[in-house]
Amino acid sequence: MRHSDIMEALRERIKEKKYKFTRQRQVVLQAFLDSRENHMSAEDVFSLVKNENPDIGLATVYRSLELFTSLELLKKLDFGDGRSRYELNDRNLKHSHHHLICLGCGKVVEFSYEFGSGLKEKMERENGFQIVDSQLKVYGYCRECRKKNAR
Ligand SMILES: [Zn+2]
Ligand SMILES: [Zn+2]
Repeated sequence: MRHSDIMEALRERIKEKKYKFTRQRQVVLQAFLDSRENHMSAEDVFSLVKNENPDIGLATVYRSLELFTSLELLKKLDFGDGRSRYELNDRNLKHSHHHLICLGCGKVVEFSYEFGSGLKEKMERENGFQIVDSQLKVYGYCRECRKKNAR
């Protein structure tokens, strides 16, 4: 999907839920479309938008992120470093993606992988559990940190 199409779909969803698509909310969403880093904390978003949008405060960013999460436009992620991060909700995409989290620099890398059907069936059979979504968190050290440590 093109960015403008994604933004249009998000705008529709917000209006559907009877919320206003204010300029400030649009700026916050646009940050996720523009940024190559898809796992941003409120502080990350704030530092991206504050220069061009001095009227937006950190509290506004926080509130927008919480609203978007409740509307399921964003997913709230916890990588165990005490900061909530957010990413565009891709539940409508076919693939689920997983996260490789670097303990050295905090970088988060996305990793696409479908669980083999054998594993899914085992989980469903042994636990009577119907799986609709899954996300794996893998902790370790990224290539750059490994290089640094090797020196
Ligand atoms: Zn690293
Ligand atoms: Zn992700």
